[in-house]
Amino acid sequence: GGVGLGIGGGVVSARVLDGKLVAALVKDEVRARTQALAARGVTVGLAVVLVGDDPASAVYVKAKTKDARECGIDATDHRLPADTSQAGLLALVAKLGADPRVHGILVQLPLPRHFDTDAIIAAIPPHKDVDGLHPENLGRVAQGKPRFTACTPAGCMRLLAHGGVTVAGASAVVLGRSVLVGKPMALLLANADATVTLCHSKTRDLAERVAAADIVIAAVGRPELVRGAWIKPGAAVIDVGINRGADGKLIGDVEYAAAAERAAVITPVPGGVGPMTRACLLENTVRAAELA
Ligand code: NAP
Repeated sequence: GGVGLGIGGGVVSARVLDGKLVAALVKDEVRARTQALAARGVTVGLAVVLVGDDPASAVYVKAKTKDARECGIDATDHRLPADTSQAGLLALVAKLGADPRVHGILVQLPLPRHFDTDAIIAAIPPHKDVDGLHPENLGRVAQGKPRFTACTPAGCMRLLAHGGVTVAGASAVVLGRSVLVGKPMALLLANADATVTLCHSKTRDLAERVAAADIVIAAVGRPELVRGAWIKPGAAVIDVGINRGADGKLIGDVEYAAAAERAAVITPVPGGVGPMTRACLLENTVRAAELA
């Protein structure tokens, strides 16, 4: 790893895994695959559904459709008012599910509170579930036979691979057990022959567990919960957390500068996992079209 000045003037010895750079590589691959499909007369289609007017969700949806178009994917967004009924959203999902031009369907989460989100996700045909959240796709990850893997954990695995991190035989600690990130992350690491510990808010000895880990994946949503001093020298640290600091800046779940003095590789926030999540959605979408 290179030595340089870290945030706050501390010495960073870790190699910084640049998510933007790796995401650009993934997008190049996706573009080549959409072009190959186009040569066979197939235009890859992605439908993004946004219900309500949450500003953060609107920003995400805009970014996803822009990324998709840059890769030759025909992305359309479908906006529904916040007071749309469960039946109304199910009807749109059914229509998109039956449309052969649509290879991938993404329903932006969180949905307004009156929706039964699990029922909406379950209504997406599993072969169009490019977010990888349908029970069948989660189950396939558990079986070690993934079709679509949830985008954030998939992006983390890709970053580890790019960073040359040896996963097989490594001891990995995942912080956070959400269906979106932590649980599929733990399964992917186990599938790749890591020995996995899945931690959460009831875990008693978090510091000791992190200190024993060759690979740390933090997906909690608590600013700098993971202290730099906990990190085992030479560990790989992937920070999924996105938190807004008191100064309005984005910070991760890891105390970055201090962790970077000990880790071998580390992801920054922003510019680490976030861009990879977006890129993996595109990869899932082109895969959906290839499998159709
Ligand atoms: P979530 O559904 O809120 O889950 C958070 C998890 O962290 C839960 O399992 C919770 O434990 C655990 N936790 C909370 N406090 C803890 C503590 N003090 N010690 C140990 N574990 C604790 O969040 P999520 O959707 O998984 O997202 C996690 C973070 O990643 C958020 O900051 C989110 O913004 C970010 N994120 C980033 C991306 C990206 O692309 N970079 C994508 C998705 C999410 P319990 O289960 O016991 O409650």
